[in-house]
Amino acid sequence: MRDLSRGDRGKEVLDVQTRLRGQGFELGREGVDGFFGPHTEAAVLSFQQERGLLADGRVGANTWRELVESGYTLGDRLLYLREPPFRGDDVLQLQVKLNLLGFNAGPERGVHDELVERAVLDFQRNAGLPVDGIVGASTLNKLEAVRKAESGREGKKIPERDGGYVAARSLTGRSVTIDPGHGGSDSGVVSAHGVAEKDVTLALGLRLAELLRAEGCRVRLTRDADERIPLYSRADGAPGEFFISLHCNEAGSPAARGAAAYYFQRSHYYSEHGRRLAEYVGRRLETAGVPWLGGFGRNYALLREAPGIVLVVEPLFLTNPEDETLARRPEHVERLARALAGGLADYVARVPVDHEERS
Ligand SMILES: [Zn+2]
Repeated sequence: MRDLSRGDRGKEVLDVQTRLRGQGFELGREGVDGFFGPHTEAAVLSFQQERGLLADGRVGANTWRELVESGYTLGDRLLYLREPPFRGDDVLQLQVKLNLLGFNAGPERGVHDELVERAVLDFQRNAGLPVDGIVGASTLNKLEAVRKAESGREGKKIPERDGGYVAARSLTGRSVTIDPGHGGSDSGVVSAHGVAEKDVTLALGLRLAELLRAEGCRVRLTRDADERIPLYSRADGAPGEFFISLHCNEAGSPAARGAAAYYFQRSHYYSEHGRRLAEYVGRRLETAGVPWLGGFGRNYALLREAPGIVLVVEPLFLTNPEDETLARRPEHVERLARALAGGLADYVARVPVDHEERS
């Protein structure tokens, strides 16, 4: 589907509006009329904020997929392991219930994968149900018993269970996917003086790849040239322990500057390892003199889809004049690449962090 934004009209807009209204988002006087007006945009923004997506008021691949998936409630359909896997809030609710009961249904990403299947089988065996891996009425009825336990959990952040724990102390032999954001016809953010995000991320990604290879890492780049790669294909064929996606930040105010990183978080569930990797990277960036804004939990497509420990890094704002100048300097790209490689090395070596494990 093409990206939809304010001013668009047609059947696709109608579909978006129907889904938004179905989930209780206010569409104002416009209603479901097939025209992407200000009320639709406001509803899209609310939806994006609620789901931890990039709140830009546009319906691109990530927001569209979330809209579709958020429409499912547990019990709407039979769930079981299949290819491609079921995705949606119903799978997420299933995982939450199973995890609460102590069956390891894996990271709560809302994807019915092998881990979910194994947890369902375990649960069925324990509950004396037919062990068929199919989540239908009988399995759901048994799971209903968890409701009370679940309510005690609201508002709490639950770290992932199995983690992306990497049992190694050095970078040698680690597999890392580096994903330079955007490319080709998709330039990403373009600064006032014409610096394109896609070029900054590529230069940084290529240098980071060199540094990590020199440390003995097995590195895969999602692109090593100026080409366009669809969002959801970036995580494809990326078996690996780490997935680092590179982007640049932008803001309405030119004053905003500095670096930020994002790890997977969806409602109360977040990636503990992603959060820690963000911390390590942040410390290295700070040491290198780059203002560090912090690590933030988000539900971006790549954070959810890519395997392993996933981090999106935005080392600078292309809307800030100072950052823009730095983005063009090879020595700054070098500084950033070294900080990222260093952060990864610190994470793997489990360098102590002062405020670690304070929960
Ligand atoms: Zn970007």
